[in-house]
Amino acid sequence: ERNEAPVLEVRGIVKVFGGVTALDGVSMSLLPGRVHCLAGENGSGKSTLIKIISGADAPDAGEILIDGEAMSGMTPARALRAGIQVIYQDFSLFPNLTVAENIVLPAAIASRKKLFNRARSRPDAQRIVDELGLTLNLDADVEKLSVADRQLTAICRALVQDARILFMDEPTTALTHSEVERLFGLVRKLQERGVAIVFVSHKLDEVLEVSHDITVLRSGELVASGDAREYSVQSLTVAMTGREVDTT
Ligand code: ADP
Ligand code: MG
Repeated sequence: ERNEAPVLEVRGIVKVFGGVTALDGVSMSLLPGRVHCLAGENGSGKSTLIKIISGADAPDAGEILIDGEAMSGMTPARALRAGIQVIYQDFSLFPNLTVAENIVLPAAIASRKKLFNRARSRPDAQRIVDELGLTLNLDADVEKLSVADRQLTAICRALVQDARILFMDEPTTALTHSEVERLFGLVRKLQERGVAIVFVSHKLDEVLEVSHDITVLRSGELVASGDAREYSVQSLTVAMTGREVDTT
């Protein structure tokens, strides 16, 4: 599977905010069915890179290629059409709708379905939940759910929109240990479906548990990248901080 063509590549991405270089020539390549960790301390440029790839912000330099084809200017609509989906830390759900409605509504809007209601949303939501082997109360108001179940709702919503490239920005921050294990089980299922997953995190033990490939940013610079098996918590810490760690 290593020879499969990348679904997404970024090359030499630069982004400057005022005097701050948030990204300084960052390149990254995502393969289908693999989990790619984007690691780095706070302020290293991880979220900025996601915004550029998803068309929410424009780079000052660099290229984005989807299926080997260079995009001339990424927009949110283009990113969605390419199957790029981002699970933000707040999940961006509609608070007054049910779980089923939240899962199905954006896909329904995208396909310009005029008739959208509770009854119609349910079978489509049920299908994806069943496919993924999840247990979710589809009729519940989404705001009544736990953080972990709201996150699952957001992931299901992304898949209903044909996600091929799924970014998860610090997805384990508010989860318990067993919820993290459930999320990682789901990540493995998505991987089997051929989704390219980007797991953004600074929790290095989790990174090493779930990732195949690793990219490390430090102050906007790419300081390490490669096969996750070549890294340890210690070597990642050194890469992220630029400081040797005391192991005594
Ligand atoms: P991370 O997600 O790794 O914590 P960010 O991508 O959010 O890092 O930020 C990278 C750098 O860019 C930081 O120094 C941050 O302050 C700066 N930055 C990010 N977004 C903006 C913005 N909209 N305006 C000005 N500076 C920004
Ligand atoms: Mg961030």
